[in-house]
Amino acid sequence: MNDADSRRLAQQLEFLGYRPQAVAEQADLVVLNTCVVRQQAEDKAVSRLATLGSVKRDSKPDMTIALMGCMVGMREAPALQKRFPFVDVFLPPSETTPLLDFLQDKGLFEDVRDEDLRRRALRDAIQDEDLPLPRNEVGRSVTADVPIVLGCSHACTFCVIPYRRGAERSRPLNDIVSEVRSLSRQGVREVMLLGQIVDRYGTDFQDGTNLSRLLREIASVDDVQRIRFLTSHPNYMTDDILETVATVEKICPQIEVPIQAGNNEVLDNMRRGYTQEQYRVLVDKIREFIPDAAIHTDIIVGFPGETESQFLDTVQVAKDLRFDKIHISKYSTRPKTIAERKLVDDVPQEEKHRRWAVLEDLQREILDEKNRLLRGQTVQVLVEEIYKGKWRGRTKHGKVVFFEDANDRLGQLVDVTLEWTGPYSMMGRVAAQRSSIPILVES
Ligand code: SAH
Repeated sequence: MNDADSRRLAQQLEFLGYRPQAVAEQADLVVLNTCVVRQQAEDKAVSRLATLGSVKRDSKPDMTIALMGCMVGMREAPALQKRFPFVDVFLPPSETTPLLDFLQDKGLFEDVRDEDLRRRALRDAIQDEDLPLPRNEVGRSVTADVPIVLGCSHACTFCVIPYRRGAERSRPLNDIVSEVRSLSRQGVREVMLLGQIVDRYGTDFQDGTNLSRLLREIASVDDVQRIRFLTSHPNYMTDDILETVATVEKICPQIEVPIQAGNNEVLDNMRRGYTQEQYRVLVDKIREFIPDAAIHTDIIVGFPGETESQFLDTVQVAKDLRFDKIHISKYSTRPKTIAERKLVDDVPQEEKHRRWAVLEDLQREILDEKNRLLRGQTVQVLVEEIYKGKWRGRTKHGKVVFFEDANDRLGQLVDVTLEWTGPYSMMGRVAAQRSSIPILVES
């Protein structure tokens, strides 16, 4: 979400004559976009902000510092202004206009005389003719994140997001499709549709708009080769969505459904709204519709009151369901959440770490076994970047693949025969039999 917001803001600032600067400390304007989903992320943001504050105080008094994202949330700005008086402007998540207004008020883009440019920089929705990437990303960004549902109205007891990103609201379907079309004209080949509960897309319109319809519309944009979406809540996944993923070629068979815990009492304390049995039924169903589906999940270890045997239930679920990726996090108390108000963070840090490591070891073992089966097979990779002399891309199942090739492969779909596999990445060579076929043509 923050990446997408930052990209959008960078592009708007370019309209006003700003240019990217590699070193933040040397820039005239710095925007720090923050995540506070866990304490660690918040600590990182605070320390970066403090560094920027001292640069401003000691050597760059004219530097404009903007603080954006979940740290600011919908109503934290007054308290933050007291704590960080050197911050010039505060931007809630996804809201760029306070900064643009600030710069306009200060006359900081006076030399942009073109009214049309100002209008386009300050507008909200992206039209077909707009080009929403900052210039330094054009032709280089192969993948782009596109928020489709903003905010969240669920009240999972651990989660700060509803307090910081506001109530759930879907973006109009036409705006999203226009944005994707514009991105594709600038070289983007894969879009990741984002929402806290992405499978609820459109429910607030009450006119039948839903995620399947949006997915199908986006699939009709010619140059878009791949579509992914995250994060789905188990309770809102529909047969219609699964059917769409199973039948529309461009939609990657990757389903991200966080389970968070494999014990019913813990799930109840988290107020997730399902049992581990129901979750297992859902996974069976996903695999019925999409037999090769890559199922990704999120798990929190050390939630208040989680006992060893409850944790072992989670381990058992992970063993049984053999996820293709688990994002494991150690519980941390977030301000104003129900868990902060009503529960005691009683699992010691070392114990959280131990549980985290148990799951991480299990995941490494499972992925190592799963990926080993792919050795010798040829997979199609969408190339995203060059990394340490190798092309790096992903399969439609989201697996990272490296290969060497003297030709420019950026943004291409390349068939790669896998020669080495590890749990988190794989390596191969361009498949011999198809190397002479133009790569963007499906054969
Ligand atoms: N909307 C998604 C999750 C978004 S936050 C959902 O419904 O599940 C991304 C992940 O961060 C969550 O899935 C959860 O695993 C983790 N997370 C959220 N709050 C947390 C907290 N207080 N402590 C530790 N991990 C947390």
